[in-house]
Amino acid sequence: MDKIIIEDLQIYAHHGVYPKENEIGQNFYINAELETDTRRAGVMDDLNLSTNYGDVCRFLHSFLTEHTYKLIETAAERAAEALLLTFTHIKRVTLEVRKPEAPIPFPFQSVSVRITRGWRRTYIACGSNMGDREACLNHAVACFRKDHRCNVARVSEWMETTAYGGVEQEDFLNGVIALDTLYTPEELLERIHEIEKSQGRERVVHWGPRTLDLDILLYEGCVMDTEELTIPHKDMANRDFVLKPLAQIAPYERHPVLDKSVLQMYEDVRQKGEKHVISGK
Ligand code: ADP
Ligand code: MG
Repeated sequence: MDKIIIEDLQIYAHHGVYPKENEIGQNFYINAELETDTRRAGVMDDLNLSTNYGDVCRFLHSFLTEHTYKLIETAAERAAEALLLTFTHIKRVTLEVRKPEAPIPFPFQSVSVRITRGWRRTYIACGSNMGDREACLNHAVACFRKDHRCNVARVSEWMETTAYGGVEQEDFLNGVIALDTLYTPEELLERIHEIEKSQGRERVVHWGPRTLDLDILLYEGCVMDTEELTIPHKDMANRDFVLKPLAQIAPYERHPVLDKSVLQMYEDVRQKGEKHVISGK
């Protein structure tokens, strides 16, 4: 992606672990790489279509002088998030906070922290088969809409489906939400658990009835397998009730391990897999 680059922006601020640093202050130098599409602005020669680097410098200056943090890790973390929330054309930012006057009793050039943060595209499967199922799914969407670290990009149709996994139970309503998020996969899972709990979800029978089940299907190109979290979702390729709504909103998104598009996976399960979807366009 294109980048707008700011080098060695000097800011006199008061970040530091030592009280003396907080009282007297020192010079910090900021490097920022803003990932953003500059094509339209470049072709049209129009600043309104781009991110104004002067505004970004003013913003960083205000932010880093109005707040005081002990760690440059925190200064970088908070400033990166504030930038991404304020300048909506920026997809990702690499921010380096350099502190050449840090209190270290040896000769040295500089110390710094450099981080990359940004919006990541993820797809969340939603399901409900208890209580007011539609209200539960709509509640999940509303929770993501309210969360400033999430942008709801698209929501599929809610589809009537029969239960999967062998437990005799009521039919489900299923769908998929496309989100851009600042959360890491682990943070997103925590957020999902909070939303499930807020709908009275209790884990009683594995694959049993539930007011709200939210699963992370895909998270950008991420592939991970830990005790808490498997991404892409382990079983997504076998579930027509996941792939049909996902194909509605993201047919060409790819599974990074199977190297198949959502549409291909859906066609495969339609031909060879179990059929659970009983409504939906
Ligand atoms: P299920 O979704 O299989 O019916 P639960 O919703 O009770 O079961 O989830 C059980 C656990 O699965 C979660 O607490 C979480 O740690 C783990 N898990 C692993 N991968 C994922 C994923 N991609 N999305 C959501 N949960 C996941
Ligand atoms: Mg789940």
